[in-house]
Amino acid sequence: MAGESSSASASTASVPLTDAHDVASAQAALVSKTLADGFPLLTFPRELEDRFLTEGEANRFHMMVVAGLAAVLLFGAMIVGDYLLSPGVVPFAAVLREGIFPPAVIIGLLVLRHLRMPSVNEWMIALAGVLAAVLEVAIVLKGQSDWAVARVVQLNIIMVFTCVIARFWPAVLMAAAVAGLHGYVVAIMPDVTGMMSFNTSLLLGTSIAFVLYGNYKQEHDGRMSFLLDAREQALHASLTEAHERLTRLATTDALTQVANRRYVETYLSECWQRARQEGHCVSLILLDVDYFKPFNDRYGHQAGDRCLAAVAEALKSGIRRPGDLVARWGGEEFVVVLLDADAEATKAASERLRLAVSALRMSHEGSMCGHHVTVSGGWASAIPGAQDEWPQLVQLADDALYEAKRAGRDRMHAAHGVTAHLAAVGEVWRC
Ligand code: GH3
Ligand code: MG
Ligand code: MG
Repeated sequence: MAGESSSASASTASVPLTDAHDVASAQAALVSKTLADGFPLLTFPRELEDRFLTEGEANRFHMMVVAGLAAVLLFGAMIVGDYLLSPGVVPFAAVLREGIFPPAVIIGLLVLRHLRMPSVNEWMIALAGVLAAVLEVAIVLKGQSDWAVARVVQLNIIMVFTCVIARFWPAVLMAAAVAGLHGYVVAIMPDVTGMMSFNTSLLLGTSIAFVLYGNYKQEHDGRMSFLLDAREQALHASLTEAHERLTRLATTDALTQVANRRYVETYLSECWQRARQEGHCVSLILLDVDYFKPFNDRYGHQAGDRCLAAVAEALKSGIRRPGDLVARWGGEEFVVVLLDADAEATKAASERLRLAVSALRMSHEGSMCGHHVTVSGGWASAIPGAQDEWPQLVQLADDALYEAKRAGRDRMHAAHGVTAHLAAVGEVWRC
């Protein structure tokens, strides 16, 4: 209720529903179009691509940290292979594997964390893989031996590891770089069996084909699920927006833009129950524009409408707390609900409201109680004693309003009737 109350009571603050609606609709249209067109090249229109990368950024970066550390361990552990096939290359390999690659990965991760550019992150994964492959080739070339060409199999491990993590296009770059490096190595290294080069090439070629196929499928699925989520979110946003718009229309008076009678009745009923449970006061002020028929007669019905809108604005300026509500009761009558305001506070508020209308200084030559638009009002405060008795509070305020009219208008009267359950408090208030 609190949320609703603020939406209606603060009906001055026009919620930018149209903007929200436009944005939500544009997003929904873009998502639907992308789904319909498909995305065989694994790219979305710019705006959607940015959102895709940004929303997944935190998870991707976390994965990069874990994979980066795993890559450091794996690349370092490959020194065992160096030792088994070319023991002489171990000191050189140690410098590259433990002295260059780990700091490069760690510094890269720190820089990327600072940059926060998700699209750059993706290419950096491939670049780290290429770096590992280049270092691996340097080690292979340095450790010249009859079986050195067999060690290019390790390039395969680096390629598979990187391509499983990277997105598709960076993975393609990585695979192409590794294929090139592999080709270079087998071209210049001796092959004692004559078959080693063919077999390693076959292994690398098939690995690249399978890994890239799997990578493509995985990214396509990931992007598809992003689009389906985005479509659901857009649908939810547009339904929420439509609901808010309808609620606003159903609870707001079109002429004055304050809450309407239907809303204030529901509000009063709920406030009544809550105040009853908590032992708080509910106060109600009924206000009626004085000599409004003569106003219409003299200035026309449209001027009358503008007058009512101005009165509503003035009343809104006279309420202070978020739970307080101004509503149009009907015709040229308004109602103000105050929560947890005792008799003194209500008396002060009702006078403030009357003065706020007077301060408009709207000419009213037809008035019999002055030369400008004024209101009369009646107010009543009660600590609810029983459920659903709020209409009695309205009746008390109405009676007090009637007295204010009879007493000469442009004044506020307190209710002084006390029912069996309602403890109306206050005294006649004349200004
Ligand atoms: P009193 O001081 O006793 O309240 O006199 P009054 O003339 O204000 O009261 P009365 O009930 O005789 O007239 C109320 C007028 O308010 C009559 C009606 O045409 C006018 N009215 C009600 N609703 C609207 C509205 O939405 N727009 C305009 N312009 N006038 C309205
Ligand atoms: Mg009236
Ligand atoms: Mg009137």
